[in-house]
Formats: sequence, C-alpha cells, structure tokens
Amino acid sequence: MSESHNLPQNATFEQIGEVLRNHQSFVLISHVRPDGDAIGSQIALGYSLLAAGKSVRLINEDGLPDNLAFMAGAEKIERPPAEPLEVEVAIALDTAAKPRMGDRALHAASKAKIWLNIDHHLSNPKYGDLNLIDSTSPATGQILYQLITALDLPFPAETRDAIYVAVSTDTGSFQYSQTTAATYEMAADLLRRGVDVGTLNSKIYDNHPYRRVELMRALLNTLERSPDGLVAHWDLRDKTRLDLALLPEDSEGLIDIIRAIRGVQLAVFFEELVDGKIRVSMRSKDRRVDVCKIALEFGGGGHALAAGIRMKGPLEEAKPLVLAAIRRHIEAAGL
Ligand code: 5GP
Ligand code: MN
Repeated sequence: MSESHNLPQNATFEQIGEVLRNHQSFVLISHVRPDGDAIGSQIALGYSLLAAGKSVRLINEDGLPDNLAFMAGAEKIERPPAEPLEVEVAIALDTAAKPRMGDRALHAASKAKIWLNIDHHLSNPKYGDLNLIDSTSPATGQILYQLITALDLPFPAETRDAIYVAVSTDTGSFQYSQTTAATYEMAADLLRRGVDVGTLNSKIYDNHPYRRVELMRALLNTLERSPDGLVAHWDLRDKTRLDLALLPEDSEGLIDIIRAIRGVQLAVFFEELVDGKIRVSMRSKDRRVDVCKIALEFGGGGHALAAGIRMKGPLEEAKPLVLAAIRRHIEAAGL
C-alpha cells in the first residue's frame, strides 16, 4: 500500500475514470474465500478494462472457486504469482479490510503506485489512495455497473454477465432489503443488453455438488436454537470437512437455511478452518441488532445484516464468546 494519506471522502467517478484512463497496467484483487460478488466484480471491471485495451491481471489469494468456474471470463482469475507484478494500479474490489486480500495477493500487488478501493462494506476504512465505498449498494457489482456506465467504458458480455452474478448472489436473488429500485433498473438494463437469466440462474443456483447436500445434513445435526428462539447456530468441524472432502465454497449461503426459521433473528455459522482459526458467519433479520458491530468487536466486519469474523480457536472457546456478545446486543436492542 502506498504511503499517501487516506482520503476521508469518496473519490468521484470522474477521478476514478482519470486513473483508469491515464494508466495502462492493472491488477484487480478481491477477498479470500471469494464469493459471487468478489469474482464477479473482478471479471466485470477486468473485462471492461481489457476491452479498453488495458493490460489486466485478476488475482485472488484462493484462486477461482469451483462453484463460479462457469462464469464467462473466469479463466483469467489466477492465484498470486510469487514475484510482485509490474503494474501501475492495484484495485481492491469487494474487500472490507486490506488484510482480507491475503498476504500473497498483497505481495503480488506491492509494486503498484496507486490503490483504488471499490466496495460496499460499511466497515471499510477507506484504505485506498482513491476510495469508492457505497454502503447503500447491495453489491460491489452494482457500484461497478454505475461506474462503468457513467464513464462510458466498454461493456462486453463477460462484464454484463459478471455484474448480474455479483448482484444476484449478494442480494439473495434480488430479495434482501438492500435491493433498491436502482438494482432492478440495472437488472432490466442487463437483460436488455442480453443476459440470459434462465441459464445463468440455473448455473448459479441449481448446480450444487452432492457433498454440499451431505454437508447440510451434517450441519442440521449440530443445529441449536436459544430457548427464546431468537438465535440459531450450527457448526462445521474438521472431521466433517475431511469426511466429506469439502471445499471452502461448499458452505456458501447455507446459513440462509437457519436464518429462514420463523422467530430467528440471528443466525450464526461456526466453522473450523484448516489453519486452526474459526470462521464465524452471522446474519441478522432485525436492523436493531447490527451484526457488523458484533463482528468488529472480534476484528471482523461486514454489513449490518451480514457480517463475519476470523478468530482464534479452538471452537469451544470462540463460540461462547461470540454467543455472549450476541446476547448482549440482543438485550441492548430490547428484543
Ligand atoms: P459471509 O458470512 O458470507 O462470509 O460474509 C458476510 C459479510 O461479512 C460479507 O460481506 C463479508 O465480506 C464480511 N466478512 C466475512 N468475514 C469477514 C472477516 O473475517 N472480516 C471482515 N472484515 N469482513 C468479513
Ligand atoms: Mn459483496
């Protein structure tokens, strides 16, 4: 990261446009354990810049997850090379905090002179030289749609489909409360530009590996609900991960199953990671309980209704700490 001071304010589209126009080489990075908005944002902006004649690398610490390999343009997603890339500009996409890009990805981008930070996480501390953070946007893909159209950058088919995937996955198929009129207007425009909704949705949502369903069965066996019914949680242990030969992306979105229980206002997913850390995923259905604030207490982050933490294990110690914090926030909110 460069030494220049952080800008407290967002950059304008025009200032971002100037950086994009006045440079030739770019590396675009998103967060570890990338989801549809992370990879979708990389492909969306990446292919627009490629179509504009720029040199572009798309780097992700964890590479391309299996469940997003269907995306047009996904073959350009690479794991970080060992040596820093000779690039002028690095662009962080959908990444709430700088370390969430991963050490190797940050090393690969370490020669960049300018960092752009484009994201929709409320907790983003604006770590770029130029920042475009819009926490009212349901997905980074939607910010990129606005940026690309406002700057009249090229809009190839890869960009179009990637924006659709990014926004669809981050809005729970256009369902969550952050979905705005602008989101539907954007989707209508993407359809007019040729998005094949049926095919794309089928590839996103009707194509799960069988082991994901077996994982669901294992998780349901660990499901617990607080006596007042407000909190539901389950956990994924090392043994299950090994027995089912799970990939990190297999658990993506499964928390929605317990979030959907009537009466549950907070859903929590605990997962033992390969490195011994614990990943905590949280969802709130009530704006009065802001899970981003709870996550920040443990060094995590995210959004008011969806946030996450990576914390020290073991699970037996992490779990009661997080559940106690949640209980405190529930009581403070008067639920
Ligand atoms: P998920 O539960 O789907 O992994 O993440 C929910 C939201 O919280 C996402 O927007 C994600 O970027 C954010 N998030 C998840 N884990 C972490 C974390 O460890 N640190 C930070 N800063 N944000 C996280
Ligand atoms: Mn996102």
